[in-house]
Amino acid sequence: MDSEFLTSLRKDRQGSGSEAQLPLVGLSPGSRVVLRICDRRTVHRSLHFRGKGKQPIICPESECPVCDRGKRPVSCDYVNVYDCQEERVKVLYVCGTLRQQLGKCVEQYGQPTEYDIMITRSKMRGHNQYNVEKAETNAPLPSDLSLYPLEQRLKPATREELEALFDDSDLPL
Ligand SMILES: [Zn+2]
Repeated sequence: MDSEFLTSLRKDRQGSGSEAQLPLVGLSPGSRVVLRICDRRTVHRSLHFRGKGKQPIICPESECPVCDRGKRPVSCDYVNVYDCQEERVKVLYVCGTLRQQLGKCVEQYGQPTEYDIMITRSKMRGHNQYNVEKAETNAPLPSDLSLYPLEQRLKPATREELEALFDDSDLPL
């Protein structure tokens, strides 16, 4: 078990940004991906979700008009991963049940940069379920991977942006 990874995965640190340019791992219901986690630590952000499409917006944590209206942000972690099927680096965002499942996998098998993981998404009674297992494959990663500088790239939204993005219909009274 790698306590540093778990700590960074669970840490409820204050954070915030725009993830628009990052190639996020997309998991539709019923799909499965095989990934290798590339970072030894995750980057934490708090997110607000906008509209029916649930577009994630990174909360600035202070002077946030959405938080000020009583809407609590969702704690989330970002990590560089290598998509073993597409053979490219992407960014996985981890929250909710996926975070719990990944945490269990790390407790059982240790530092997740050392083995491939398989994530399966399913839907149960309208809720997303994620299952994380150690994969059978374990090919060495290419040595020349260039990772995304997540700390710099995940910028919090400004107060002006948040006020423009979230109208009254997105906010509880
Ligand atoms: Zn906020």
